[in-house]
Amino acid sequence: MASSTNQMLKPLTTCINNAGNLEIGGCELTKLAELYGTPLYVLDEKTIRSVCNDYKKAFEKYPHIHMMYASKALCTSALTRILDEEGFGFDTVSAGEIYTVYKSGVDMRHVLFNGNNKSFEEISMALELGVGRISVDNFYELELISKAAQTKDKTVDILLRITPGIECHTHEYIQTGHLDSKFGFDLTQIDEAVELIQNKYKNIRLHGLHAHIGSQIFETGIYPDEIEILAKEIARLDEKFGLKLNEINIGGGLGVKYTQDDLPPSTYEVGELVINKLNEVIEKYNIEPPVVFLEPGRSIISTAGVTLYTVGSSKQVPHGTKYVALDGGMADNPRPSMYQAQYVAEVANKKQTETKEVVTLAGRYCESGDILIKDIELPELSTGDVICVYNTGAYNYSMASNYNRVQKPAMVLVNDGKAELIIERENLDDLIAHDIIPDRLKK
Ligand SMILES: *Cc1c(COP(=O)(O)O)cnc(C)c1O
Repeated sequence: MASSTNQMLKPLTTCINNAGNLEIGGCELTKLAELYGTPLYVLDEKTIRSVCNDYKKAFEKYPHIHMMYASKALCTSALTRILDEEGFGFDTVSAGEIYTVYKSGVDMRHVLFNGNNKSFEEISMALELGVGRISVDNFYELELISKAAQTKDKTVDILLRITPGIECHTHEYIQTGHLDSKFGFDLTQIDEAVELIQNKYKNIRLHGLHAHIGSQIFETGIYPDEIEILAKEIARLDEKFGLKLNEINIGGGLGVKYTQDDLPPSTYEVGELVINKLNEVIEKYNIEPPVVFLEPGRSIISTAGVTLYTVGSSKQVPHGTKYVALDGGMADNPRPSMYQAQYVAEVANKKQTETKEVVTLAGRYCESGDILIKDIELPELSTGDVICVYNTGAYNYSMASNYNRVQKPAMVLVNDGKAELIIERENLDDLIAHDIIPDRLKK
């Protein structure tokens, strides 16, 4: 089976140049750190486009496939442009994400609005901007959407998000497809939802079913299992209600390689399994070949991203750990403190052959849990060294905060020796921009 980009630990343009320094996208990382400051998010355009190609090629034998990018992994205007160019649609979960893709010039028909607690305002905005599909999560939302549509005299095109009752072996916080989940309709609630749509909410048009099992998934078997359940439901709903549903959204979730021990499956393997299963259920349940939506997030953008940090202080605990403190941490990458996520790092400005030592890379934030990488072997570090942490493209910037009132980092896009700023570093005035001092407290 061909390997795919999500199976790589580092961006595919990563190399050590003649000066012995790390380079990504033809740009020396120490130079980027010097020019733009650290912490710095770096995105490699070739890696992003390579992943997109992997997905498109892996599914090309099924003609009704639509690739959607789950924006929550990383939502910025430049990335949206790249993925739009690659022919991807967008899975969005907030007014902010919808607004970002809208302002980036995306054809809004290729946008899906998803989430378990959408507000009336967000739904109204989605309708106003012509979002192609809303994935409806619960009964309350059906009513909300119908009301919003009524005020705009519109018909809404929806999918029903269902909980297929499949568990995957990933971290508990990123499982979503098991029965006791906060997301989606239970299988036993679908009929009631369909009856409401048919009899009460006449301005809602149901096109199909949506499921998403979880994230950082390594088990390929869950996708066929999921397709089996969705196809069976479609056939059952046709039989019972005469409903011709022709869309299924099988979610995202494909894993990436954060450490050498992670062995995520190839997109080609998933593609083959999914297509074989689709052909099987089309025959078995005698249904029209459905339009299939795929909405990967992490696997599209994780590998392409690295974060650069500068080494500051260090502390050798007598007979204990040696802590080396970086100028970032849990506010730019909350995953280690949130999920015990593991990462691999290298020093960008040192030969990997130098004398090594085992250190713990600590963040700068005021929390003992702010540790980026525990016990990693690196060439002996000194103040000013530049550390490159791999696989930070997904769920880093998108989960970043201003904890300790630290400015969010900048992001650059690198390609063919050129670096372009795509997110400016926040400045101190950005941090107080929304503060208000009541008159009586003014000095
Ligand atoms: C988070 C999410 C995705 C993307 O998941 P990844 O693991 O980043 O691929 C896709 N669909 C839905 C509904 C999601 O909630």
